Amino acid sequence: GRGAVTDVDVAVVGGGQAGIATGYFLRRAGADFVVLDDRATPGGAWTEYWDSLRLFSPAGHSMLPGWWMPPEEGHEYPSAHHVVWYLTEYERRYRLPVHRPVTVERVERENGHDLPGGRLRVVTDRGTWRARHVISATGNWSAPHLPSIPGREVFAGRELHTVDYRGPDDFAGQRVVVVGGGNSAAQIIAELSLVADTTWVAARPPRFMPDDVDARALFDLATRRGRGEEGPGVGDLGDIVVVPSVREARERGALKAEPMIERLTPGGVAWPDGSTLEADAVLWCTGFRPALGHLVPLGVDDGHGRVRVGADNRAVAEPRLSMVGYGDWTGFASATIIGAGRTAKSTVAAVTEALEREGRV
Ligand code: FAD
Repeated sequence: GRGAVTDVDVAVVGGGQAGIATGYFLRRAGADFVVLDDRATPGGAWTEYWDSLRLFSPAGHSMLPGWWMPPEEGHEYPSAHHVVWYLTEYERRYRLPVHRPVTVERVERENGHDLPGGRLRVVTDRGTWRARHVISATGNWSAPHLPSIPGREVFAGRELHTVDYRGPDDFAGQRVVVVGGGNSAAQIIAELSLVADTTWVAARPPRFMPDDVDARALFDLATRRGRGEEGPGVGDLGDIVVVPSVREARERGALKAEPMIERLTPGGVAWPDGSTLEADAVLWCTGFRPALGHLVPLGVDDGHGRVRVGADNRAVAEPRLSMVGYGDWTGFASATIIGAGRTAKSTVAAVTEALEREGRV
């Protein structure tokens, strides 16, 4: 119940791929830990992606530590549904102590936290965990970002974000403006443009990766970086992976982007040069921010919606807190399936070392 208090060495907040990869290494280290996740079922954000979404890379290039993702029958690029299955089996395989659904409302310093053995309190809707160390792995999906733009209050059509999109069916025959220069926008337009009149709008011209580059290239980059070798960054490859649906749409001419709009109007959108376009819906594929609401009491936000971390992913302002899986700032490619393991491994190594110094674990 809400009033229960449990002591634990490590509490992981978030049970998506980053949280369970972290759990894998905590289990291997013999740590006393829990993973707390607010969803009813495993899979993290993968449970909410649109129906047609496919992985950037073949199953054989997507793995969490210890167990390669098996291929999905009949598909080189696995579906989100398959990833959910993989993450579900992964938790079971490694008997990870994931508690669901448990919403972490806040992480706060306990009185006397600065004394030896002092703890952080992880306060949830199902009780409190007193932890020596907290690893935050809450992802970005629950903090969708919409740019501030004038006219929102007058626009009579529908406004949605990537998180609201499930499939093209309820846009059939409509005029849809899709905003954003990344993979979500490109993949959604690829299928939406088959049934709707789509206009793509992006703050800068979208950059496609070469057609023969998929996340395998990311994997190779991550491996080389892991060995300390220099090489190109992810950004140097371009932003948009040319998965088959995107290639097809580009060949059809459906993926030509317009410059960024300036405001919404009652009937649509307007550009800085005064030109306008009628629209039934505006779909914001404008990304996410790290989901850090539970960390507010710790005062670790760097003012830009992130937490300043050291090389071991520990928060500079609170060394009992580590951050995993949010993006390159928590480890190279750490927000991808293939990158999550590397960052989880080094983070757990630093945490268990610190706990051992205190004579625990
Ligand atoms: P999440 O999956 O979001 O997991 C975080 C978990 O924490 C969730 O269950 C969440 O509900 C929970 N949570 C949040 N706040 C709290 C709280 N306060 N208390 C308790 N629980 C909480 N990566 C690839 O490698 N290949 C791909 O092809 C690929 N495609 C992608 C396509 C899209 C559209 C998107 C958005 C991302 C894609 N990614 C891909 C990137 C990445 O793999 C996913 O974003 C992944 O879900 C990130 O995992 P995570 O564990 O960090 O976060």
